[in-house]
Amino acid sequence: MRKFIIGGNWKCQVTIVEEAVSIATEIAKEINDILTENVEVFIAPSYNALYSVGQVIKGTKLKLAGQNMYFRDKGAFTGEISPDSLLDAGCEYVILGHSERRRIFGETDSYINQKVKKALEKGLKPVLCIGETAKEKEEGQTETVIQTQIENSLADIPQEQLNQIIIAYEPVWAIDNKFLNPDSEIKTATPEEAEKIHVFIRKLLINKFGDNVGKNILIQYGGSMKASNCEGLLNIADINGGLIGGASLSAEKFKPIIEAAIKLGK
Ligand code: PEP
Repeated sequence: MRKFIIGGNWKCQVTIVEEAVSIATEIAKEINDILTENVEVFIAPSYNALYSVGQVIKGTKLKLAGQNMYFRDKGAFTGEISPDSLLDAGCEYVILGHSERRRIFGETDSYINQKVKKALEKGLKPVLCIGETAKEKEEGQTETVIQTQIENSLADIPQEQLNQIIIAYEPVWAIDNKFLNPDSEIKTATPEEAEKIHVFIRKLLINKFGDNVGKNILIQYGGSMKASNCEGLLNIADINGGLIGGASLSAEKFKPIIEAAIKLGK
């Protein structure tokens, strides 16, 4: 039986609490009765809506995630969000090192590493995002970029916490984001392209953490995943789910991806 984790990253797209609550209510209603135990689904609304969405999905199978987090508990850190605030809102997951954080807001691997460690210490499951840009891909740097991001972002994590980590491989050139891809056409990775890198990541994780941990870490694919292409991607053995941006913004678009995971997980 295969396990899948499907995440919806709402970014800064749903700006009004009422709207976020309405989308979350609809998603929970649509998927609660069909979700099987080997498919986990989370949604990551923006901070203003986290608590209200958390209240709405409390008691359903839908889980809550933060889109980012600071690596200190509290203090004079203007504009940041504490892990305790995420927990207070009901989060189980936190997305860390998303390409938009790395490439637009300048987050580095060592900074992300501190966040991963803090999330784990606090009992939040980090979804660590990695991925190469169009230029890095063209220059044949994909594997080097990914290896560096994994090694540095996951440096010195206590062995017993490693099974809490999820990796999201998100080739930047496939993310539906014009700021990140001003000059290149945005296109989903083909199942073959994604498979090559997921197999590479799996080998890296096994080499770094051993068979027991490395074989079991869930690796999501992210980058323009939607109803029309999700099955081909989720069918690949080392693709254990998806991190979804645009197609998670309504139950209508999100549900078919979850249904594909349920079908493949049987
Ligand atoms: C993302 O940025 O996490 C993402 C995968 O976005 P989209 O699905 O919109 O490409």
